[in-house]
Amino acid sequence: MTVLASGSKGNATVIASAETRVLVDAGFSCRELLKRMALANEDASALDAILITHEHTDHVAGLSVLARRLRIPVYFSEPTHRAWVRQMTPRTTMTYAKWLEHVQKEKEARAALTIESADTELCEPGGPIQIAAASAETDAEEEDAPEAAFRRDPASLPAVEYFQPGISFSIGDLAITPFTTPHDAADPCGFVFESASESIRMAIATDLGYVPPNVKRALERIDVLLLESNHDLEMLKDGPYPWAVKQRVLSRVGHLSNHATAEFLSRDYDGSAMYIVLGHLSETNNAPELALLSAEEAIRERGRLLGNRILLARQAAPIDPICL
Ligand SMILES: [Zn+2]
Ligand SMILES: [Zn+2]
Repeated sequence: MTVLASGSKGNATVIASAETRVLVDAGFSCRELLKRMALANEDASALDAILITHEHTDHVAGLSVLARRLRIPVYFSEPTHRAWVRQMTPRTTMTYAKWLEHVQKEKEARAALTIESADTELCEPGGPIQIAAASAETDAEEEDAPEAAFRRDPASLPAVEYFQPGISFSIGDLAITPFTTPHDAADPCGFVFESASESIRMAIATDLGYVPPNVKRALERIDVLLLESNHDLEMLKDGPYPWAVKQRVLSRVGHLSNHATAEFLSRDYDGSAMYIVLGHLSETNNAPELALLSAEEAIRERGRLLGNRILLARQAAPIDPICL
């Protein structure tokens, strides 16, 4: 596991087994994501797929440009894909019939598109926004060819695959089980990754308002766990956020506080992880030392637990790859 970034300004993590390499979320511009992968010695061209947890900008900002540039499939749940497409084409009111038509058109465009030249793919900071703006300008033009339609659609992707939370699927030698998380998005989820050949399990669980029973079950027997520790309750309450935003963060579909994370670690966590990486820390309402202290105390209370090294993911830079 290589956490390229984690926090409310952008999230992206590489999970790799012996044969398969996937990116979970693409919450920065394509250029920044490629830069961070290079910094972490991760070969972007070796990525097999991108997986999306939910459609919030801090998880999808560079998605379309990166996927088109690397020409790799993107895995979503259908409601998340739908919400993302709606987000990318905000002027469209999309009924379900229209949505099906859109999916069909995209499929046809992909089928018609045999050769795609890489040099027309921009990989600029804020790439998706530029493409969206360009697309808005050309909306009035006639769609002369499927290729042009494909290029003009800011939500077009090289390939889309759907998964359903609770149902496992495979990419190469990685078995992936998405699980539903309580968060204010269309169909948010976390993931458990299992490499059959190495019998190693990793999980990503961020962006959740609390830890419901299905998440507790999903996080059993995990070797490397990326777990949210978003805010310190006091810092949030006294902090600069407007009241409504504070309520959103604190709600059952918001984010896990240091306290809630500690509660999970001391009461429900099975102690099996070699590494626990605390992630999605708020830069405004948390301090890394507070999150770390809180989690370490929670683990210490368990007494019998050994080997749970706690690391902090960072917003500004990748952390060292965790290799088992
Ligand atoms: Zn987020
Ligand atoms: Zn979110």
